[in-house]
Amino acid sequence: MFATTQELLAINGGKPVRDRQRHPWPRWPIFGHAEEQALKRALQSGQWWYVGGVEGVSFEKEFATFQQAQYGVACTNGTAAIEIAIRSLNIGYGDEVIVPSYTFIASASAPLMAGALPVFVDVDPQTYNIDPDQVEAAITPRTKAIIAVHLTGRPADMDRLLEIAKRHNLYLIEDAAQAHGAEWRGRRVGALGDLGTFSFQASKNLNAGEGGIVLSNNEALADAAWSIMNVGRSRGGQWYEHPFPGSNYRMTEFQAALLRVQLQRLPQQIQLRSRNAAYLRQLLAQIPGILLPIEDERITCQSYHLYAFRYQKDAFGGHSLEEFLRALNAEGIPSMSTYRPLHQQPIFAHHAARLAALTDGKITMDYTKIHHPVCEQLCAECVWLPQYVLLGTQQDVEDIATAIARIQKAWT
Ligand SMILES: *Cc1c(COP(=O)(O)O)cnc(C)c1O
Repeated sequence: MFATTQELLAINGGKPVRDRQRHPWPRWPIFGHAEEQALKRALQSGQWWYVGGVEGVSFEKEFATFQQAQYGVACTNGTAAIEIAIRSLNIGYGDEVIVPSYTFIASASAPLMAGALPVFVDVDPQTYNIDPDQVEAAITPRTKAIIAVHLTGRPADMDRLLEIAKRHNLYLIEDAAQAHGAEWRGRRVGALGDLGTFSFQASKNLNAGEGGIVLSNNEALADAAWSIMNVGRSRGGQWYEHPFPGSNYRMTEFQAALLRVQLQRLPQQIQLRSRNAAYLRQLLAQIPGILLPIEDERITCQSYHLYAFRYQKDAFGGHSLEEFLRALNAEGIPSMSTYRPLHQQPIFAHHAARLAALTDGKITMDYTKIHHPVCEQLCAECVWLPQYVLLGTQQDVEDIATAIARIQKAWT
């Protein structure tokens, strides 16, 4: 157990549980001589871009192998990766794509950018991931694909989603931007569905500042993704021949060189985060008013891009989430609130109005009428701890629980 004291909370002028100056959290990103060498290697090669380079294509192979996928297509970022996946499946005007409403904007803006209609479904309060029953209820004759987001690094229910996709003849895209190394029933995510996408943006568990990749076990889909990434060229085709509608989504050799080295650090980081997350779970389970997502033995590895829990203000003297986060950060624990409900973002209502006008009212969707109680509640209650707090010691983990318990004690 962790000890709590009667001292003043840090927000009220007390000494914080954790003095960030004297006991800094693990720094992110983690890098050393190997990264320096890799960047130097790319620099000195004089080969700085993907075409004709060795770093990009090597990274594609290495990361695909790591995620147990056959093909990888590197690209500029995780948002572009989802757009590439959508376009590889030839999804566009008139099509509907099912997405959870509790996720990062890119999961839903990608189908929108392709002209398709994002159809939001609510998430499951026990897992924070897309609710398969609601996916099934949202399917229409126009539905083309489902985007499953492995939020915080916790795989969505792939058994149900794969079964639903198969039965309704839909594509399944995995947005695995937060799920490097995560496993469902011993299989790494990313190529469990038709296409999977990852981000290598600075906060992500594998990082080159920016970057992304599309994975698949389907060679034709991987070729389509490659083409869209490389201005619509075809593999083996002429340089100025552009048979497909593509864009320039190419990753640089610098990013790829860095990612190849960072990838070697990942397995050990995954182990450490998992061990610390299990310990944190044990400690937080003892604090009333902190609700944890349910455990699921089919998740054989969770990659913890974020550590999420729900804050119940009634157990904290009615103090709001904002007050709680202020107090927790003052105690030296990095923590933040989460998303806003995506269906309420004005861009979707604007998009629907445009589609309705373009199709003489054949395609309509009133996003303003959507009410997703679980998503809305999670947006109001959820707390995230960033992944790097799980890269430290047992004492680091105990500090998190101690700070929360101390705040509770002061407020009740
Ligand atoms: C980060 C993220 C993305 C987008 O990745 P970028 O590389 O930042 O464009 C997409 N989906 C989810 C769930 C993410 O967390």
